[in-house]
Amino acid sequence: MVPSKALADAERRPYWLDRPLAPEPLPPLTGDATADLAVVGGGFTGLWTALMAKERDPSLDVVLLEGRAVGWAASGRNGGFCAASLTHGLGNGRDRWPAEIATLERLGRENLDEIERTLSRHGVDCSFERTGELRVATEEWQLPGLDEDVSAAASLGVRLERLDRERVRAEIDSPTYLGGVWDRDGVAMVDPARLAWGLRDVCVRLGVRVFEHTPVRSLHEDGPALELGTPKGRVRAGRVALGTGAFPPLLRRLRHFLVPVYDYALMTEPVPDGLLAEIGWRNRQGVGDSANRFHYYRLTDDNRILWGGYDAVYHNGGLVRPEYDQRDATFEKLATHFFETFPQLHGLRFTHRWGGVIDTCSRFSAFFGTAYGSRLAYAAGYTGLGVGATRFGANVMLDLLQGRLTERTELEMVRHKPMPFPPEPVRSGVIQLTRWAIARADEHEGRRNAWLRTLDAFGVGFDS
Ligand SMILES: Cc1cc2nc3c(=O)[nH]c(=O)nc-3n(C[C@H](O)[C@H](O)[C@H](O)COP(=O)(O)OP(=O)(O)OC[C@H]3O[C@@H](n4cnc5c(N)ncnc54)[C@H](O)[C@@H]3O)c2cc1C
Repeated sequence: MVPSKALADAERRPYWLDRPLAPEPLPPLTGDATADLAVVGGGFTGLWTALMAKERDPSLDVVLLEGRAVGWAASGRNGGFCAASLTHGLGNGRDRWPAEIATLERLGRENLDEIERTLSRHGVDCSFERTGELRVATEEWQLPGLDEDVSAAASLGVRLERLDRERVRAEIDSPTYLGGVWDRDGVAMVDPARLAWGLRDVCVRLGVRVFEHTPVRSLHEDGPALELGTPKGRVRAGRVALGTGAFPPLLRRLRHFLVPVYDYALMTEPVPDGLLAEIGWRNRQGVGDSANRFHYYRLTDDNRILWGGYDAVYHNGGLVRPEYDQRDATFEKLATHFFETFPQLHGLRFTHRWGGVIDTCSRFSAFFGTAYGSRLAYAAGYTGLGVGATRFGANVMLDLLQGRLTERTELEMVRHKPMPFPPEPVRSGVIQLTRWAIARADEHEGRRNAWLRTLDAFGVGFDS
């Protein structure tokens, strides 16, 4: 089908958030409050922080302040790949922290196991399916990278299965596949909005006071406490945790390390059983392809296909704006690539198209820190792989706020910051040049030009 026809009736909002099961928002803060811990942001970072703070110490008085509705931003509109990796993939982690990658991989797997256990302990139903992820090569030049992944993982005791063309097509039948690697255990598929809403419910049950439609506009010291100003009230808290993602941070210094990057996705109507049988996909893995500009896709529990990625868009000036959530040129491209990958699905229609903002940093994986004499902690910079890693980030923040030295806080990854981005307007120039070079590399069998090689040498880059 012509992409524009397949997209014609697609709603312009995130599929996950556009369902009757969306809960009523909790009332905003009115008046003044005190708390032992105030968490700012109701995405996965903030929700896990509040939840685990109560699990660590049920007597702690915890408040969560969310500017809009819990899960409305990246956390409720993503691909739902809940990965063990804390480092935006093994390759990135190994390049940056060779001495501690084994620990990071182990902590990541433990984190994913803990997510699974917590959801089951609290009865959070978010269609958590630990079906793994298939990374596929669609061009010859991508095949050696698959072999490298398998041997790198093996050296850390992790088994990835290398599939040749026949075996990968026996899993999921696309004529574009040349080979694949299946990580059967390191990734789960979740319904991200139901995960966020479920975590909100758990927080409330554990006694967290959650205030929605309560943007925090100011932050300052007030004696031994920190005071957070909101439109209709203030919170005086002994400790503050920031989980505000790609949004303008309350702590100005974070602006040097974060850029808001827009990522886009489509959702199809449910694929009829007969058509799905033609493709296979019986093991319901998530799939990612191997170009620098990659697609990610997966099945929902009613067998729709979420199809996203490829374009990672930075708007010069680094603003976060509602109108950036829609980008027709990207939707058309994504739809075209979808039908190239699955020609069997010719005629299928998309029901939703949307975008969302991710907090990109130059090392593609989260960074952490404290301010105000360690009374405030932050975790940000997940760069498109935060569904699972945000729980780890939340744990780091709680360790830092409690002044605890743990295996997590001792990590080089936690102790050191990424390279900052230059200020605007140089920032826009550098990012757009890098995006152009990345697209060219994909068109030239992965060959990286002098600019990308220079960035590689400094250990910085741009990704989604
Ligand atoms: C289209 C898309 C697809 C993605 N796919 C995947 C995927 O498949 N797998 C994966 O691992 N990751 C994916 N990601 C990334 C993932 O969604 C994020 O890494 C993760 O959700 C980040 O969570 P967060 O809580 O840090 O940020 P967010 O979810 O952005 O939450 C931040 C919250 O803070 C609130 N806030 C900000 N400032 C204030 C303030 N001053 N006062 C009060 N509240 C405030 C915001 O309203 C928001 O709700 C994707 C992202 C997008 C956009």
